[in-house]
Amino acid sequence: MYTIGIDVGGMSIKAGVVKGGKIINKLSKETNRNGGMEVLVQDIKVLVEDILVQNNINIEEVNNIGIGIPGVVTNDGGVTCVNLGLKNALIAPMLQDSFKGSKVSIGNDANVAALAEFSYGSMKGYDSGVMITLGTGIGGGIVVNGKLITGANGIGAEIGHMMISSNYFECNCGNNGCFETFCSATAIIKYAQKLVEEGRKTTIIEMAENDINNITAKMVFDSYKENDEVAIEVVDRFKKYLAMGLANIINFIDPQVISIGGGVSNASDIMLEGLSEKVKQYLPFKEGNIADIVIAQFKNDAGILGASAL
Ligand SMILES: [Zn+2]
Repeated sequence: MYTIGIDVGGMSIKAGVVKGGKIINKLSKETNRNGGMEVLVQDIKVLVEDILVQNNINIEEVNNIGIGIPGVVTNDGGVTCVNLGLKNALIAPMLQDSFKGSKVSIGNDANVAALAEFSYGSMKGYDSGVMITLGTGIGGGIVVNGKLITGANGIGAEIGHMMISSNYFECNCGNNGCFETFCSATAIIKYAQKLVEEGRKTTIIEMAENDINNITAKMVFDSYKENDEVAIEVVDRFKKYLAMGLANIINFIDPQVISIGGGVSNASDIMLEGLSEKVKQYLPFKEGNIADIVIAQFKNDAGILGASAL
């Protein structure tokens, strides 16, 4: 038997046939961001049909069709995603009508990535794990005994919006002080830009060809390796708040493992150095063991793999 994972993103919709935790074949198409629910459901339906034909698989051989989507998914399956023009869209039930023999499920993309790591990747073998994805924003996913914990209303695990401290700019959600305004790639870039605008000398701006809009998180980490003072300040600030965020997660849940993914996790050596000790400093109970902190295994395939495991 097979499962199918669908990864809906702002740029593309990817579909993959999965067997035994491995993606056998992938197919994708551009996302029609203005199409609304009907067009999205139709696009997913066609992708599934095409990938089945391409791989000579009959729909009767497919147990699950899972979908990961960047939005809030309530427990009754309603999807709200501003970027895709969806409000309480019942995508999974509509698709279920077309694929009656298979179970169609849908989940938030960060939750789905956590499930991929838990089922097949960096959190495999643990009973409880939390994944944070450090990208443009911060996504979160909590898995206990193989089940995603999304809360009574399906709106939990929004780890990126836990409020940590006051910050010098507001979060997209309208609040001030969210975790993602300190530790996302965007936050790292913004803080580097701020220091450059204050007139600080740094190799980061040379790498960015004297245009602060070209600054990337990678440039900050590369400059850090060259002992650039500004880069050290940006990275130290990032790591301080990352440690606070992880301490909060441990205070709430105390999982066996925390997996860090997303673009920022490419700088894993810099990020992990001394991180566990820093986290312990913020815990009320400093003795004893804390969660293993690991780096996510899957990059682009997390969405397909995790959705297929829903
Ligand atoms: Zn927020």
